Amino acid sequence: MKVSTIAFSLFAATALAQTKPVDGKFSLLKLPYAANALEPVISETTMNLHHGKHLATYVNNLNNLLPGSGFEGLTLEEVVEKSEGAIFNNAGQMLNHDLYFTQFTTPADDRKPVGKLAAAINEQFGSFEEFQKEFSQKGATLFGSGWVWLSTDKEGKLVITQEVNGSNPVKRGLKPLMGLDVWEHAYYVDYQNRRADHLAAVWQIIDWNVVDARYSK
Ligand code: MN
Repeated sequence: MKVSTIAFSLFAATALAQTKPVDGKFSLLKLPYAANALEPVISETTMNLHHGKHLATYVNNLNNLLPGSGFEGLTLEEVVEKSEGAIFNNAGQMLNHDLYFTQFTTPADDRKPVGKLAAAINEQFGSFEEFQKEFSQKGATLFGSGWVWLSTDKEGKLVITQEVNGSNPVKRGLKPLMGLDVWEHAYYVDYQNRRADHLAAVWQIIDWNVVDARYSK
């Protein structure tokens, strides 16, 4: 592995945990790769819409809702934990997408978990394949819009949860490690109604160094 990859992984994991508004405003995540870097798994068109339009809208909405809300100055995670309604929806989606976009890298067929996380997945799920099966099944069967997340609980045990709409595992006291977006905007341009095909392809772009850094932190 290149040193630059390690440095980025650690930076991304650390920076996100500390996301705070600057002068009262949260800012749009800068993508750590080119908009076409994940093709053909996620097209440049989807990336530009998803990051440049959907995520940007959540960030703008949150910034418009924060003044006078009592949540000013909190970290993004704290806002998600403490708020409800429109602030929660937009803060949850900002946190979801910041974690989501920073967990990807260029496509390869043989991407699999590394480090301590690899050992924990084998111990708890039996194998990476068994883990993938359960994760993809939870993503495919979530009704409507939402997310499927791998997290750790307070004891450090791995858990896979379905989160409805804009919710994030921090809302139930979990630490999110890796999440897949099953809102139609995440895949419809590239896969139309074939959500399961999208979920099967996404394994090619998971940056397990990033996910392991979140786990081992
Ligand atoms: Mn999305």
